[in-house]
Amino acid sequence: MLVKGALLAPLLGMKRSMLQLAKGDLGVDVDGADRTDEIGEMARAVQVFLGTSLERQKLNREARLLSQLNEWLQSCKSLDELYQMVAEFLSRLLPDCAGSLYIYANSRDVLDSAKAWNGGQATAAMHPDDCWGLRRGRIYTFGENEIDFPCTHVGSARPSTYCCIPILAHGETIGLLHLCFGRAQEGRDRTAEMNGEHRRLALVCAEQISLAIANAKLRDQLRDQSIRDALTGMFNRRYMLETCRREFSRATRTGQSVSILSMDIDHFKKFNDNHGHDAGDSVLRAVSDCLKANFREEDVPCRFGGEEFVVILPGTVAHVAVNKAEEVRAKIEALVVRYLDANLPRVTISIGVAAFPNSGENAQAVLKAADEALYRAKDGGRNRVELSPTVASSNTTSPVVNMQRALAVGVAREQPARDLERGADAA
Ligand code: GH3
Ligand code: MG
Ligand code: MG
Repeated sequence: MLVKGALLAPLLGMKRSMLQLAKGDLGVDVDGADRTDEIGEMARAVQVFLGTSLERQKLNREARLLSQLNEWLQSCKSLDELYQMVAEFLSRLLPDCAGSLYIYANSRDVLDSAKAWNGGQATAAMHPDDCWGLRRGRIYTFGENEIDFPCTHVGSARPSTYCCIPILAHGETIGLLHLCFGRAQEGRDRTAEMNGEHRRLALVCAEQISLAIANAKLRDQLRDQSIRDALTGMFNRRYMLETCRREFSRATRTGQSVSILSMDIDHFKKFNDNHGHDAGDSVLRAVSDCLKANFREEDVPCRFGGEEFVVILPGTVAHVAVNKAEEVRAKIEALVVRYLDANLPRVTISIGVAAFPNSGENAQAVLKAADEALYRAKDGGRNRVELSPTVASSNTTSPVVNMQRALAVGVAREQPARDLERGADAA
């Protein structure tokens, strides 16, 4: 009885626990750790084993989540998608921490709120000086030291423990990860050790996030460079042709108009000869600023090349486009450009206007018609607007002609980009 009660029962209990552990069940209870005999020593050893297994399991989960985060971040196509993913992962990885992500605006005087999760603060914007983490250029934890000061952006005189992690990439601070440790789960007390653990994880995440954001920004920048002209910041000819294709196929589908303005600065060669290329560049920049400022959001002003510009006006009929062209022509005529502390002589611009479907049945034809109208404006004395004549078939209601037009438009829609570009070149 003595042997059974004192030795056999605890040994059998231990055997059960060890078998459960061997099966990977880490929720097992190990009894007898308070005994002073060999069975107690065995129970304590099993408890140590259980503790390290639990720790390993946690680390494995974290490593798995972090590697998944990394993989997902690499495949993000836009910054918004990236911020959404960061919020999803951090809300799972650190379920008891409320978090928010702030990113520096391009002006670099404020940080905009990019995302908040688990009830994190989502103030629209914050000033960099309002955060001790950003001001000191390293992670800042509030609430664990005898003396510390809350950041102004937190908006509470005595907030619960939080940390601010500056996000750095390529040697530049690009944002801030703010995590609030206050949201303890029910029945669990927050400890400094737990906060430290979360901080460590958040730091690893911040590193991954920073690289991903820097990469996404770089991608955006490269795309921007490929579609914008370096001198004026306007969309370039390549983007103009892409947009033409998109807008013309939309207009064909919806039965709407698209107008095209083809513009060319008058006697610009002479202007360069008289005042130098740098002065000419200043004029090109001023003309492009004027174009950017004077069209609607949905219109697409582009620098076609040299001193030539094209503006695409989706959903605009010919006579409205002519009025707009006249308005812009007058604005450019009135433009005063300062160069080296003096006013440069004024320049004028000639504009050809053509519209789909009246002036042509596809982008290529309308671009060509706008160009022909531009040359008529030049021949007519410059500094004027000319509208392309309506093509004969466009007003007819004959079903046969309409069918032919529809077929022509269909073919134009199918044709590859290169054809369009070749057509524009010819025009
Ligand atoms: P027209 O009224 O017939 O258009 O005469 P124009 O002199 O403007 O036309 P032309 O095509 O003979 O000359 C275009 C000039 O535009 C030639 C070139 O020096 C100038 N140009 C083209 N690109 C740039 C540029 O990026 N910067 C400067 N400063 N000038 C440019
Ligand atoms: Mg020209
Ligand atoms: Mg010119």
